[in-house]
Amino acid sequence: MTHPAQPTASHFINGQYVEDKAGTPIPVIYAASGEEIATVYAATPAIVEQALAGGKAAQKAWAKMTGTERGRILRRAADILRERNYDLSVLETYDTGKPLQETLVADATSGADSLEYFGGLAGSLTGEHIPMGEDWVYTIREAIGLCVGIGAWNYPTQIACWKAAPALACGNTMVFKPSEATPLCALKVAEILHEAGLPAGVFNVVQGLGEVGGALVTDPRVNKVSLTGSAPTGKKVYAAAAAGMKHVTMELGGKSPLIVFEDADIDNAVGGAINGNFYSSGQVCSNGTRVFVQKGIKEKFLARLAERVGNAVIGDPLDDATSFCPMVSEAQMNIVLGYIEKGKEEGARLICGGARCDRPGWYLQPTVFADVTDDMTIAREEIFGPVMSVLDFDSEDEVVVRANDTEFGLSAGVFTKDFTRAHRVIGNLEAGSCFINSYNDAPVEAPFGGVKASGVGRENSKEALNHFSQVKSVYVRMGDVEA
Ligand code: NAD
Repeated sequence: MTHPAQPTASHFINGQYVEDKAGTPIPVIYAASGEEIATVYAATPAIVEQALAGGKAAQKAWAKMTGTERGRILRRAADILRERNYDLSVLETYDTGKPLQETLVADATSGADSLEYFGGLAGSLTGEHIPMGEDWVYTIREAIGLCVGIGAWNYPTQIACWKAAPALACGNTMVFKPSEATPLCALKVAEILHEAGLPAGVFNVVQGLGEVGGALVTDPRVNKVSLTGSAPTGKKVYAAAAAGMKHVTMELGGKSPLIVFEDADIDNAVGGAINGNFYSSGQVCSNGTRVFVQKGIKEKFLARLAERVGNAVIGDPLDDATSFCPMVSEAQMNIVLGYIEKGKEEGARLICGGARCDRPGWYLQPTVFADVTDDMTIAREEIFGPVMSVLDFDSEDEVVVRANDTEFGLSAGVFTKDFTRAHRVIGNLEAGSCFINSYNDAPVEAPFGGVKASGVGRENSKEALNHFSQVKSVYVRMGDVEA
């Protein structure tokens, strides 16, 4: 690949690109062709040490700057991300295989929103004054210290920014490890932050697989770990962090319900189901992959859904007419194909798709199964690909119980014109990020995160500041000490 935004080395540490070819090579494969477009090298122990030492050394001085000064740098970085949106979007497409139609509006732009939002809030971080008669207590909202961020492969720019922006706004430093499947974009985030004036060592990026992630999480200098990944990885990383009594944020997987009542606007509900299953080829954690449709409208819903899914433009991700693209990797494509076979074997009715596309790259057809029952594998496990399961239901009480019958609790959606019912149902669903007559919106102003096995903590919004800071309380006595 020759691209204007291509990073020039594997790691970014202490304000500069760093290479160490002694690490295991990690090929960067373009999902639309299967070609190797770049190589990065996993961090060796020496690289991990440089990054952690750099992050630790930079933290105190960064936290001593005023919030306004820190925020100004983040906001400058947001402006640069926006100015370079086209090149960064092309790079995101090379890294992930997602269509340019999506990356132009959902990746560097979302990262910029996050840097702008938390840059704006950085100067408003304050404590409280608590009167105690003549005495008083005051609190100081302090940085936690050195943080580790670990990313998944579906939104490499966005995930790096969603973690860096609130962490840095609060005066923390970070070592970030992108997913080994999409190593390029986080390096650009680091480069741009430094161009915007970030002091060396405040945000560092190192490459590697789980082993490198493990080395970062268990290091005693690290005070907080924020992971975006699958629930099984989350359990391991949470346990490792707990052994060192570290703070955590866990943004994990889901199997979210999207409930369509008979009175819903069918086109909007179909649109919500399409957004919630086929955007980014289904590689979105909050997807509403269990679509519960009330029996009276089931066939009408399925007919309209099949018609609209049939309009997907499957093609070259860099062609901006293309709306549907490959899976991130051959391995992920094969995992999803395995689930499609399970769906067929276990008796679900295939409405459309169900196979690999006849073209190079890791393309799957957008797939819809109907007559899915709660016990089928495709209704229970996170697939993380373009496979929608449509389940039938009769009553509100029944669907709420069935929607909650999962280990996960990331998102949930309801389509209905009856607003009383909409709020009642959402109130009864066990999920962190919910939608009424919409699906999968994730503005930086709103908290994002899950309950149950879908995670701990929240990203975005003012909530994220609480997860990247801690409170010191100071009792001040005006009189004598009685003893
Ligand atoms: P994954 O769990 O395989 O890997 C996530 C990251 O963890 C990678 O960077 C990986 O190298 C690292 N890792 C793996 N083992 C580790 C260990 N023992 N210690 C430290 N780090 C380790 O996930 P993935 O396949 O890259 O991404 C898909 C998953 O991410 C899905 O389950 C999806 O739902 C989830 N996800 C969640 C959110 C969210 O915000 N809730 C967002 C995007 C993706």
